[in-house]
Amino acid sequence: MFRVIFHLDMDAFYASVEQRDSPALRGKAVIVGAPPTQRGVVCAASYEARKFGVRSAMPSITAGRLCPDGVFVRPRMERYREESDQIMHLVAATGAVLEQVSIDEAYLDVSALCQADEPDAALLDSVSLARQLKARIRTERQLTATICVGSNKLLAKIASDHQIPYGLTLISEKDKVQFLRPLPVRALYGVGKVTEEALHRAGIETVGDLQDHPGDLRALAGSFGPKLRQFAFGEDHRPLELGEEIKSISGEETFLKDTDDRKVLRACLREQAADISARLKRHRLGAHTVQVKVRYSDFTTLTRQISLEESLTEPDDLYRLACFLLAREKLVSRPLRLLGLGVSGLREPAGQQLVLI
Ligand SMILES: [Mg+2]
Repeated sequence: MFRVIFHLDMDAFYASVEQRDSPALRGKAVIVGAPPTQRGVVCAASYEARKFGVRSAMPSITAGRLCPDGVFVRPRMERYREESDQIMHLVAATGAVLEQVSIDEAYLDVSALCQADEPDAALLDSVSLARQLKARIRTERQLTATICVGSNKLLAKIASDHQIPYGLTLISEKDKVQFLRPLPVRALYGVGKVTEEALHRAGIETVGDLQDHPGDLRALAGSFGPKLRQFAFGEDHRPLELGEEIKSISGEETFLKDTDDRKVLRACLREQAADISARLKRHRLGAHTVQVKVRYSDFTTLTRQISLEESLTEPDDLYRLACFLLAREKLVSRPLRLLGLGVSGLREPAGQQLVLI
């Protein structure tokens, strides 16, 4: 039996659910998030809106400026979660082994469903299965999914990061080394900013440069070196994660003296955001949900959160969303005894949009 892995990703999920539920929104630049007249951020954008440069986590005011005809819609997380359950249920019914990585994304191990006597034949064999699954999601849920195929998670995900909407991509075993060559090193799972910079300093820009590098990659990437070399050649033995992984990361601080001093609170959030970001990066994760927690002098405790379609890792993004939540919910109406920042909805961060050179 040869390994066949699908990466399934719903196309512009939140916005597509909105467009499906409200026919008036179809074909329009839909921006899910706070209206541009308010302080707030974009949670998701339809393809029509993305053409104007609208992106998740962008302030709504900026989105309104880039896309003046955009239709702003309030997010309905409950609805998206319900829809996600329906889709994952439908996917699991194929008999595939399923690892759901976020509300709209999953890996499927379909090896057992593909009969063939060599690896590429198994991959090709799986394409009809992928097509059927896409068609079922379209007919039963009126939504489109992108499904990409490879012999492991690394390749299936990279194929997905290259996707044009509504596509189906397969990276074959025969072509994988060639396929990876022109990609920037950042395209590989586990290569973050620090590793990327170290590789760039050594003159390694593309995955091809990595493949050709004669020395030990440990000198450049530490203990990640040997794995990085495997990834560069399209080899990845990571199994699907079926158990419970880390669910959330958070930090909080109790002040010596209750305070509503914005400077103190901002410094505290900056520090927490930096710490959480470092931990996310260490686990090679991104976060979909950012939460703030406040406690007042009388021990009343409130938490407020926001979820985005895209995952975040950078401290500035976490910090900005935390400040946004504090302001939107007017949480600093009186001095705080405690302030906390947390993230959940953790998963492998989205790959950069890649351009084939
Ligand atoms: Mg998606």
